[in-house]
Amino acid sequence: MIYHEDYSPPLPDRHRFPMPKFRLLFEHLQSLGILTQENWYRPQPATTEQLRLGHDATYIQAFLDGCLPERAMRRIGLPWSEALAKRTITAVGGSLLAVDLAYRHGLSAHLAGGTHHAHFDFGSGFCIFNDLAIMARYALAAGYARHVMIIDCDVHQGDGTARILSNEPQVTTCSLHCRENFPYRKANSDFDVEIPKGIDGSGYQRLMENHLHYWLSLHPPDFLLFDAGVDVHAGDALGYLNLNDDDLIRRDESVLQAAVELGIPVACVIGGGYDRDHARLARRHSLIHQTADRIYRSL
Ligand SMILES: [Zn+2]
Repeated sequence: MIYHEDYSPPLPDRHRFPMPKFRLLFEHLQSLGILTQENWYRPQPATTEQLRLGHDATYIQAFLDGCLPERAMRRIGLPWSEALAKRTITAVGGSLLAVDLAYRHGLSAHLAGGTHHAHFDFGSGFCIFNDLAIMARYALAAGYARHVMIIDCDVHQGDGTARILSNEPQVTTCSLHCRENFPYRKANSDFDVEIPKGIDGSGYQRLMENHLHYWLSLHPPDFLLFDAGVDVHAGDALGYLNLNDDDLIRRDESVLQAAVELGIPVACVIGGGYDRDHARLARRHSLIHQTADRIYRSL
């Protein structure tokens, strides 16, 4: 489990992005006894060199210095602050630590990450740097893997990830997302599954199982990155799908179990989740950690 106290910097009152969820998720996992002093890892901020695995040097520097044009910050949807900049690079560091820990222990779960709308030289949709793309290249560069697969189950398409990694033969990008949802201009992942609005848990599970096993047999990876976005939940403010908590558990189990059966490391990030009730949202995000914890204990 990877978390840093800097993950929930203050935002203006009533901002649309539920920034407190990371801290609440941490507290909830502690109260469940799933995150303990023994399995809690605190990341270092990602270095500029690491950020360059996925991004343009000028863009990185302009963001870190707080010099991005207002238009670029509006597209990101978060107001710049020192605390936001610090949080952003620390969270990418957390995703990289998740890769290290998955390699060492087989399974790791970050309490943040999944910023898949960040592109090579601009951010978008609350995403500044694309941790998934950086994680994949980092795992290859570290010699942890020769073929990484990214399974992105956030309700929104992983468009930034798909574009950054479009010429990367050693990474397979898979996105399972709602057709009618943001981004309206989709990118081409290696595999895209467009889910119709309003699908329920069993319909979703059928689609997902079919594709998951097809992807894994067609391009067998030796490292898996899993974006366990909870915005597919019926209670989500930005999703259009109809999954409940049990459906999320079933989805996460399928992916993690598949990795365990293949004997390959899997690093999880939380992805998107939007709910005005931040405590309820944190509980929803905690399902992936609960599932990961259960599977880890059975290894
Ligand atoms: Zn999303």
